[in-house]
Amino acid sequence: MRISGCLASLAILVAVPLTPSAAVPAVVPTVDRAGPTVRVDDDALIGREVIGYSVRGRPIVAWHLGRPGKPTALLVSTMHGNERDTRLIMYALKQGPPIHELDLWIIPNYNPDGYAAGTRRNAHGVDLNRNFPYRWVDLDGSYESGPAPASEPETKAVMAFLDRIRPRRIVSFHQPLYGVDRNPKRPGFSSKLSRYLRLPLKDFVCSGVCHGTMTGWFNHRYAGTAVTVEYDENPSHHRMTEAAPWQIIRALDGWRG
Ligand SMILES: [Zn+2]
Repeated sequence: MRISGCLASLAILVAVPLTPSAAVPAVVPTVDRAGPTVRVDDDALIGREVIGYSVRGRPIVAWHLGRPGKPTALLVSTMHGNERDTRLIMYALKQGPPIHELDLWIIPNYNPDGYAAGTRRNAHGVDLNRNFPYRWVDLDGSYESGPAPASEPETKAVMAFLDRIRPRRIVSFHQPLYGVDRNPKRPGFSSKLSRYLRLPLKDFVCSGVCHGTMTGWFNHRYAGTAVTVEYDENPSHHRMTEAAPWQIIRALDGWRG
């Protein structure tokens, strides 16, 4: 618990009404008024909301960090419930120093049922990264794409959320392919992520064409850019909690402190 950091968070909350009026509606409803659920060491947190529910009724939570009115970015972790280590980056960001020059949202656990069960897929056995309604095809096995495009409640929740916040950048964290996907829409952003996160540039071609992925759907539909980042199977605790949180904020042109 750091008193100075706590006060810094309060300062942000107090400052919200002073920001341009256009930014206020996006922020005020998201501020968590429950009190006890906001830990005093969540220095970077300015809001928290439930964007939807999983098949089993678990909440899918989004944290709001950074500065409303600045370029919007979204970080996503644990879309596959057995790829859990990058959640540590998200917690380190939330509990670390305030974030500047960036309006940052985080979905720390996209697939809470898969996370609870330790499985890649959701409680319907669907790979949520094959369920989006862009180039969706009927896939089976570990890439089970569901009975129809956007059939899953997790997919619907995230689609509605993305349509609302319209991020300029999305980074979707996975494991264990160890690299940054070479994004043809904005190759410079992929290169920048590769340099800052110290991961190699790769082509994640999904055994051919990527069908029904979140990044594919978003890149097709919106002006912003979504990129997949994969760490290895067992990234070090130091890398997840100390190095990567700073690196990703710098790669998004923000800073912490
Ligand atoms: Zn994955």
